[in-house]
This record gives sequence, structure tokens and C-alpha cells, in this order.
Amino acid sequence: MPLEEYRAKRDFEKTCEPSGAGRTKPRELPIFVVQEHHASTLHYDFRLEVDGVLKSWAVPKGPSLDPAVKRLAVQVEDHPLGYASFEGTIPQGEYGGGTVTIWDHGTYESLMGEKAEPRTASEAIEAGRIEFVMHGKRLKGRFALVRMRTQAKGKPQWLLMKLKDEFAEVGEGSDRRRRN
Ligand code: MN
Repeated sequence: MPLEEYRAKRDFEKTCEPSGAGRTKPRELPIFVVQEHHASTLHYDFRLEVDGVLKSWAVPKGPSLDPAVKRLAVQVEDHPLGYASFEGTIPQGEYGGGTVTIWDHGTYESLMGEKAEPRTASEAIEAGRIEFVMHGKRLKGRFALVRMRTQAKGKPQWLLMKLKDEFAEVGEGSDRRRRN
């Protein structure tokens, strides 16, 4: 059951988040969304469309465009595709209570199919490393998500990093968390 954990955590009578029921149209390229989530602590939810769901990571500091900066990304439960357009306020006392706004969205392309041992995005995430190109407003170019070898108790910990290319921004100004 792909969205079992997502649904188990939420009461759809109380939260305005999507339940994930219903179908969504197939697209040419998979989508991504990054949502700014003012829950008990501010974090950025980084989501990639893979096999009909949004693979999801909570990134406390948000993405950086500086390849020298690796950001902790805690993998959380898969979310329904419909979550990609969700903005609103989850009631206090409910799971993830607080305000969600879309920080960036667009499409992405996995680069893992071009490797010596080609993998689908789903296989790459299962194996703990995915490289991809983002086509967003704030996030452009190559990024990687890498699962850390040593894991603390609880949810899987990954690192989100920019890979070097013409869209990388080194040092000051590379942190696009501030709104323009
Ligand atoms: Mn969140």
C-alpha cells in the first residue's frame, strides 16, 4: 500500500491536505516540489515524483546552490502526487500542524539511467544515491541525494547537495532560502 503511512498519520476530516484519492494524468517529465513548512520547526519538504508518488525528504536548512554545502535531508513517508500543489495551514494539533507554501516547483530528470549500471529513479533511491537535473525557478541544474552510511535511530538520513555545473553558486548568496 504505497500511501499507507501518509494516510495513517492524518485525519482528512481535520486537515486540508490531499488524501491522495483519485488519478493524476501522466506527464512527460516527473515533477518536483519544495514546500516551506512552518511546523514546530521550520523546514523545507523536498519531493520528487517517482512511480506515481512523491518521494519526500525534510530538509531543515533548505537546499543550497553551493556544491560545497551538503544539507541534511531526512526521508519521510511518500506523499500523494496531489500534494505537489498543496499550500495552506494544517491545523495545530494535527500531524505537521503549521503553514505550507510552495518554495519552488518544476520538473526534474534522473541522470541514473545514463550510468554504467543504469537504474530507474526508484532503484537509485532504493540503492541510496540519485543524481538528477532540476528545472525549477530557484533550483536549476544537477543535484544529488545520497543516503548516509551510518544511520541514527529513526528515519533515514540523506544529504542533499548541488553538483558542479553552470548553475552552481559558490559562497555568499548561494542560499536561496531568502525570498527575492
Ligand atoms: Mn513537512
